[in-house]
Amino acid sequence: MDRPSVIHKTSSDLCVLPNWTDYDQECSHFSWDVARQALQGLPGGGLNMGFEAVDRHADGALRDHIALRFVARGMPAQEMSFVQLQRETNRFANVLQNLGVVKGDHLFVLAGRIPELYISVLGALKNGTVVTPMFSAFGPEPIATRINLGAGQVLVTTDLLYKRKVKQIREQMPSLRYVLLVAEGGGSTSEPVTLDWRQLMDSASETFCTVSTLPEDPALLHFTSGTTGAPKAAIHVHGAVVAHYATGRYAIDLHPQDRYWCTADPGWVTGTSYGIIAPLLHGVTSLIDREEFDAERWYSLLEEERISVWYTAPTAIRMLMKYGASLAQQHSRPALRFIASVGEPLNPEAVWWGKEVLGLPIHDNWWQTETGGIMIANTPAFDIKPGSMGRPVPGIEAMIVERLESEGEPPRVRIVDRPNVDGELALKAGWPSMFRGYLNNEARYQKCFADGLYLTGDLARRDADGYYWFVGRADDVIKSAGHLIGPFEVENVLMEHPAVAEAGVIGKPDAVVGEVVKAFISLKHGYVGDEALRLDILAHARKRLGAVVAPKEMTFIVTMPRTRSGKIMRRLLKARELGLPEGDTSTLETSA
Ligand code: AMP
Repeated sequence: MDRPSVIHKTSSDLCVLPNWTDYDQECSHFSWDVARQALQGLPGGGLNMGFEAVDRHADGALRDHIALRFVARGMPAQEMSFVQLQRETNRFANVLQNLGVVKGDHLFVLAGRIPELYISVLGALKNGTVVTPMFSAFGPEPIATRINLGAGQVLVTTDLLYKRKVKQIREQMPSLRYVLLVAEGGGSTSEPVTLDWRQLMDSASETFCTVSTLPEDPALLHFTSGTTGAPKAAIHVHGAVVAHYATGRYAIDLHPQDRYWCTADPGWVTGTSYGIIAPLLHGVTSLIDREEFDAERWYSLLEEERISVWYTAPTAIRMLMKYGASLAQQHSRPALRFIASVGEPLNPEAVWWGKEVLGLPIHDNWWQTETGGIMIANTPAFDIKPGSMGRPVPGIEAMIVERLESEGEPPRVRIVDRPNVDGELALKAGWPSMFRGYLNNEARYQKCFADGLYLTGDLARRDADGYYWFVGRADDVIKSAGHLIGPFEVENVLMEHPAVAEAGVIGKPDAVVGEVVKAFISLKHGYVGDEALRLDILAHARKRLGAVVAPKEMTFIVTMPRTRSGKIMRRLLKARELGLPEGDTSTLETSA
């Protein structure tokens, strides 16, 4: 169907007066210093993410307002008001203090979306302890890699996850001083060399004075994958909270009376910045669904929970689209007024589907682990061009650049002034939620910057109206169902299998999840690449990596294409898989 290239906002899209309507005016008046004034701060110029998210409201007019509402199949909903959340997070901060866990120590959380996860993250932030929520579907390998890279001293997890994934690798994580277990069935736990989360909470005081953190003190470590080497831990500071607040206002249009649902898991940066921090900062009630995707359930939640603002992901939208309009039409969405999406390209069809089937266009926005918050967005303040990521939010200066050759030197770039030219997306460095380093990898961090710009590694173009369009990634990192997956991490685990000589991993385009992880394997002498072996290798990867990261598809090949310097040519594997031209193969090892 031929559709217009712009979705003009109608009065039904703007049934509540948006937080802003004049893009140019807001951008020209914006300053991060003024934005910070919306927050309370700590005495002496301090700023603490946990305090701003919880205590600012618990000590004010919203004290009895519901902050978090947890729902799960077959269980009554559990709610926590701001004042209850304050007490619980105070208790947890005291638990840490009692254990001698202090400001700057590193705490990891491995759990489903249970209340204890949210309490632990926010309590740790108030204690100045640096937090990493990890995705509970990770297998033992990614868990150990991250805890070791982040030198985690404390792990909060559940008894079941501990038994399934952590116990056998506990010895491989020497930095871990304490493992706190939440008994999933209620009650207490009795695993050796662990502590019982609830028992510790019961004996901790519910009053706590937030540890004085400064805006530049580290608050969160978020892991992200690269093409080579181990994942990188991006360091985010307490000052990022200013950007979480501002973007919650501009890009997801949060109003205090909203009932908001962010479908992302806190194990990914969206689920922390916009699944925990931003909604609390705005004093809204957040719905947290503990279950996995289920189209029927999701429509019921939008209806019964009277969700007004919904922040989700392209994969989820495409899955809903697969179920067809009729399922959507069996449910009403009585309060829904704003839908946003992030994580991967949102096809124009999906934006239109929102408009035509859900009654609201979907606002795509762009950001990444390193940016800590939304940078480019479709917002209520301007019309949508379906397929575009939108325009930079106030306070963010984006541009398209071309990298100049600079062998061994710090990167240099040239800014591309003309519209509709493909290049690398760059952002003027210095916004509050910008990462402040990759833990223990200053050289890698410095490589991300040139001439005062942060180079995102994404290719994009800007049109004459200032809208940005995603073109692709400049590297081999795989984006599957919104999750970044480093091929190297997967290849390493595949190589552990006794039959595997070489492994190459690519992202294979997929209509629903964006890309699926596909592995190419060459076998050691004496092994036969039959179906049984294929399934055995896939099962090994799934056990070690977890379902999200493990390959879904696998093919045996005789020789792995490598460069003469020994690097796997994933680009070539991909071209061959997709039947595309092989491009420049001058560096290919001739035997391949
Ligand atoms: P992560 O660091 O895991 O959040 O992944 C960030 C990457 O996801 C970006 O660098 C992009 O490659 C991709 N991404 C995020 N949002 C979008 C979007 N709206 N459109 C296209 N790609 C996106």
